[in-house]
Amino acid sequence: MRKPYIAGNWKMNLTPSEGAKLAKELVSELKGVDVKVMIAPSFVCLPAVIAAVKGSNIIVAAQNVSDKESGAYTGEVSCQMLKDIGVNDVIIGHSERRTYYGETDEWINKKVLFALSQGMNIDLCIGETLKQRQSGELEQVLSRQIKVGLEGVAASDMSRITFAYEPVWAIGTGMTATADDADNAHAYIRKLIGSLYGKDVAENAIIQYGGSVKPSNAKELLARENIDGALIGGASLTAEKFVPIVKCALE
Ligand code: PEP
Repeated sequence: MRKPYIAGNWKMNLTPSEGAKLAKELVSELKGVDVKVMIAPSFVCLPAVIAAVKGSNIIVAAQNVSDKESGAYTGEVSCQMLKDIGVNDVIIGHSERRTYYGETDEWINKKVLFALSQGMNIDLCIGETLKQRQSGELEQVLSRQIKVGLEGVAASDMSRITFAYEPVWAIGTGMTATADDADNAHAYIRKLIGSLYGKDVAENAIIQYGGSVKPSNAKELLARENIDGALIGGASLTAEKFVPIVKCALE
C-alpha cells in the first residue's frame, strides 16, 4: 500500500515571513491528517519555515541543490548546508530548472547521485513538452529522463526517490492532463522502474502528478491507481487551496 504524498513547490514566491505564516496555517489545518506532506520554499525561507513547522510531520524540502560537495561555485547551495539546517529532502530536475537553467539529464543524474550519497531524499521531476507529446515521443522522453537520471542508483536507494510526473505543458498553464493521460503515463513510468529495478521497487515507487493541480481536479487525479500524490505549484501558495488538495488524498 503506497501512502499518498502531497508536495507544494513554492518556487520563487513568498518572503520568509509570508512563508512562515503559511507554514503555521498548514500545521494547524493539517493536524492529524494522515497524508505525507512536503513544502519546498526558496532557500532563504527555509530556516523560518522549518521553525514554523517544528513539532509537526510536515517535511520541508529545498527546490534545488548542487551536485558538488563545496568550493568555488558561486550561487550554489550544498547538501551539507541544507542538512545542517535540518533539510533532508530536495526537488531535483524540475522542468523550470531544465528549461531556464539548462539542467540536462546527465547533470540531474550527478545531483541525484550526490544527494543520495549525502543521505538525502529526492523528488525527481520528469515530463514531456507539448511538442514531444504531439510528436509521439512521450515514452521515449520519459524513458531517457528516468534511465539517465537514475544511472548508477542502487535498488536499495530507490525508496528515497519519489517521482513527479509533470507534463511541461500543464505546469502553471491551467491545462491539466486528463486523469486517463496522467494514469497512463504513470503506469508507463512504473513499468519502466520495474524493468530497471524489479517488481517490488516498482510497486512501492511513489509517483506524483504535477501540472495545474487544484482543489477541483485533485480528487479525480488522486483516485487513479497509479497516481500516488501530487506536486503542486500555484495552488500550494495558500492554505485555502493546498489543504483541500491534501485532504482529497485521504478519500
Ligand atoms: C510545478 O511547478 O511543479 C507545478 C506543477 O506547478 P503548477 O501546479 O502551478 O502547475
